[in-house]
Amino acid sequence: MRSKKLVIKDGNIIDPSSRTNCIGDLIIKNNLIIDVIPNSNQTYSDEYEIINAKNMIVSPGFIDAHTHLRDPGQEWKETISTGSKSAAKGGFTTITSMPNTIPALDNANIVNDLVNRSKTDAIVRILPIGSITIGQKGANLSPMNELAEAGVIGFSDDGNPVSDSNIMKQALTYSVDLDLPVINHAEDKKIVGKGLMNEGIVSNRLGLFGADSSAETVMIARDLILAENIGAKLHIPHISSSSSLHLLEIYKNMGLNVTAEVTPHHLTLNENWVYGKKGEVPDYIDNESYDTNAKVNPPLRTISDANDMAKGLSDGIIDIIATDHAPHSDIEKQCSFADAAHGINVLETAFSSVFDLYLKKSISMDRIIESLTSRPAEIFKLSKVGGLKKGYYADVVVIDPKAKWKVEQHKFLSKSSNTPLLDTNMNGKILITIYDGKVIYKDENYNV
Ligand SMILES: [Zn+2]
Repeated sequence: MRSKKLVIKDGNIIDPSSRTNCIGDLIIKNNLIIDVIPNSNQTYSDEYEIINAKNMIVSPGFIDAHTHLRDPGQEWKETISTGSKSAAKGGFTTITSMPNTIPALDNANIVNDLVNRSKTDAIVRILPIGSITIGQKGANLSPMNELAEAGVIGFSDDGNPVSDSNIMKQALTYSVDLDLPVINHAEDKKIVGKGLMNEGIVSNRLGLFGADSSAETVMIARDLILAENIGAKLHIPHISSSSSLHLLEIYKNMGLNVTAEVTPHHLTLNENWVYGKKGEVPDYIDNESYDTNAKVNPPLRTISDANDMAKGLSDGIIDIIATDHAPHSDIEKQCSFADAAHGINVLETAFSSVFDLYLKKSISMDRIIESLTSRPAEIFKLSKVGGLKKGYYADVVVIDPKAKWKVEQHKFLSKSSNTPLLDTNMNGKILITIYDGKVIYKDENYNV
């Protein structure tokens, strides 16, 4: 516990939960926020430790509703410890553990083990998501009540869809009394078939099997119909296509209790990144013409889809940004496109990726921060996080909007570095991350 008080001074405090966007001081005592002073010219005594945040953005710590920590079972990709350090570097103070661990988070014992190990191994808050079906096999429901009592904040078989409509119907029905969202990885496997990427010109040129976005939209349609009939809370993960967004908008306008997330990569990258030329379209194709780090599920789609996702997020049809942080080791990506694992390592690049949308005037800074803080806190009913109000946990991130940096493999705190953004220049950088009143991350160039 901190004995002194901490002041984050003269920053641009942006807290959408209290509609605050001002220059001011944020005061922390022990692990709580005790005051926000706009337009402050106050001086502070020695009992205060001061962080000068002039020209910086001061935001609530980010919340990631979709993190794959790989622990237990695949610790060569990531662990609770490395995943939480990676989160801190990316400005995230609350992350989730998706249940596709080995074994899956499908009973209270495994969830309790994760929660207990998180207390010692993690430097940020980790919230478990329980699996919908036992072993994520899609056949028999997990003990959802027991999982809820163990503290899961939602249910998902992510990585796998719940293909059986009656199982999905049952899960949604049970979720009503538990008042927790069901998060179904929306993918019709029959439509995907052998598809490895988005179907279109790029898949044709590369000679790779493609699958079109109807694989996603068909399953979202089914889930919306079921959720409406049952009155359940449906949360749609990693929405990626214009047709899915259109459907979501229709159901939201009908008043359905549905929410959705989008990843930084579906907002800012597109299928051209599969060429391995950082989004450029090559004149000719050779044996080196693909980047397995751009293989992800759902796949990167068209430029038009990505632009629609940004507009959907800006308009609030899509509620939140979630990373779908999916670490994989080099060996799982240094292979043919068909053999490569699906997934992108996102936590450390997430903010800078979406900051680009702000620089391009596609979305406001307040909306970006809302979608990373107060809105996920609302959806998952997290108390005293996601805002900078008096009495809230002192989870804070200080961002340098003018900083430029390069994504370098050797600087990852994650155990993996599988991202098509390697060697890409980025704008906007996380400078300091504070969790529960403690500074848990400082940028290497921090000298304010
Ligand atoms: Zn998924």
